[in-house]
Amino acid sequence: MADWQIGDVKVTKIIEEDAPVPGEFVLPDAQADKLREIPWLSPNFVNEKGWLKMSIHALIIETQGVRIMVDTCLGNDKERTTKAWAMRSGPFLEDLAAAGFPRESIDYVICTHLHVDHVGWNTMLVDGKWVPTFPNARYLFSRTEWESWEKDPDEEHFGPVIQDSVRPVIDAGLADLVDSDHRVNDEVWFEPTHGHTAGHISVRISSQGEDAVITGDMTHHPCQLARPEWRCFADYDAEQAIQTRWDFYGRYVDKPVLVIGTHFAPPTAGYIVPDGERYKLKI
Ligand SMILES: [Zn+2]
Repeated sequence: MADWQIGDVKVTKIIEEDAPVPGEFVLPDAQADKLREIPWLSPNFVNEKGWLKMSIHALIIETQGVRIMVDTCLGNDKERTTKAWAMRSGPFLEDLAAAGFPRESIDYVICTHLHVDHVGWNTMLVDGKWVPTFPNARYLFSRTEWESWEKDPDEEHFGPVIQDSVRPVIDAGLADLVDSDHRVNDEVWFEPTHGHTAGHISVRISSQGEDAVITGDMTHHPCQLARPEWRCFADYDAEQAIQTRWDFYGRYVDKPVLVIGTHFAPPTAGYIVPDGERYKLKI
């Protein structure tokens, strides 16, 4: 279990799934031969086969007496079109409790966006019904993000994600639809990073002069620091997503801001430094 201290704030990573995938599965341009042209990716972020090392994890932020879960991974018992993500029965909630975070103790849930691997544990199956997993939490969704999925839930792509993992939270009255620059408190706030989805956000942390940012899927993998133009197959607006990456890397390059990746394999966090006209992650 990895964790980071940012001033008075602590961030803890809880892994649900940790496996290499062929690059083309996520980023169509990230083929093995092209990844070998970026040597700093090995061995942490690309394996010997030239596959992307990736992780699906939640990040728990402890700040000013509250616990915030950023992204809720895949979940159990869900009907999904991707086999490895369907009808899972993993120990995520047990792992979460063992790390000191029983589900009842979570005060806020933030979804950087409403894709299948970021909303799964929003709900759990109880007596045949989807109920919110975190009964004492307010779930914070970007309003723009929700409105886009409400209009087009896109069930063909991954399955009934909105219906089983987002709608029940809204129906239970636990969701707050907020602006894309929403502040949870003076240590944690949203940073709009639209493009991968309509209302995608990253999460900024600042405490006692120390800073961090949780990427969400504005960057899936550190290889995109070297190749910001590499798009994800699931981008809502790929051109905007590319611009968002250039802007984000330009904003944080050579700054003492720890970048914590939502899908980055261990060590999962680092600093953006220049690499010619492009960037790399210094770990
Ligand atoms: Zn994702």
